[in-house]
Amino acid sequence: MNLTAESHRVPLNDGNSIPLLGLGTYADPQKTPKGSCLESVKIAIDAGYRHIDGAFVYYNEHEVGQAIREKIAEGRIKREDIFYCGKLWNTCHPPELVRPTLEKTLKILQLDYVDLYIIELPMAFKPGDAIYPKDENGKIIYHETDLCATWEVECHPYFTQPKLLEFCRQHDIVIVGYSPLGTSRDETWVNVSSPPLLKDPVLNAIGKKYNKTAAQVALRFSIQRGVVVIPKSFNPQRIRENFQIFDFSLTEKEMKEIEALNKNVRYVELLMWRDHPEYPFSDEY
Ligand code: NDP
Repeated sequence: MNLTAESHRVPLNDGNSIPLLGLGTYADPQKTPKGSCLESVKIAIDAGYRHIDGAFVYYNEHEVGQAIREKIAEGRIKREDIFYCGKLWNTCHPPELVRPTLEKTLKILQLDYVDLYIIELPMAFKPGDAIYPKDENGKIIYHETDLCATWEVECHPYFTQPKLLEFCRQHDIVIVGYSPLGTSRDETWVNVSSPPLLKDPVLNAIGKKYNKTAAQVALRFSIQRGVVVIPKSFNPQRIRENFQIFDFSLTEKEMKEIEALNKNVRYVELLMWRDHPEYPFSDEY
């Protein structure tokens, strides 16, 4: 596959296509200044990103929508150039809530459609106004759900998911790998006892050879395997850096070296919800 900054989409079986590189937009709303997401998405679109990953529960989806609309108004892009992925939150799993929840998202975005709408997590919470419904002991109230699949999977050089990737290849399923740089290492939801991905000596040594950073090597590794990546950055320099991965390629030997880094490290374990009947990470994939 010849991947370029202008052309790095992979086809989907409904006739659409998804860019292999997208911008992640989750940032802790308590710690992130208002407007950072708006500016970052605009910078990303100017840098060439055409895939944006967001969610209602990130509390900044209105900024994503505004950025896309402003760039359309400027004439920089058309709506159909952008691939936007939104997400159904845990409290909205009952089938009758799916459509109204999507409509709410469209209202927040002020866009006519999303390109992909996924189940954020396969663990349902009690429906209602509370995003995190809790009982009198402060424990999240779970909800029964008849769920058969979720399509989003953590994937990076420390968690290469060879079995899942092979299964998906055989069945023509495209994987979107979240946390492709090893997350922001926020200890409230990330397993920070695990080694930081971007400090890895092999990724850094390979990067040195190409005058690239460990982050760029990790991202290039994923897209070269056909895995879509959605690195999050709200830093202008790093947003641009993460897009500069189409002017070099890793050799077969380097791909194997990086594959061998796999440690089955899952950064996002969500252990606080491990007693949920649908907790997804106990099964081998
Ligand atoms: P990432 O692996 O994308 O890492 C993001 C962190 O890396 C941020 O702290 C960012 O900081 C930093 N960073 C970005 N670029 C670089 C670089 N070039 N060099 C060094 N550091 C860098 O983690 P996420 O967990 O955010 O995953 C990406 C996206 O996936 C999310 O934003 C969201 O859209 C999606 N997602 C994540 C899920 C999850 O549970 N983690 C679940 C579902 C979806 P800075 O902004 O300062 O650059």
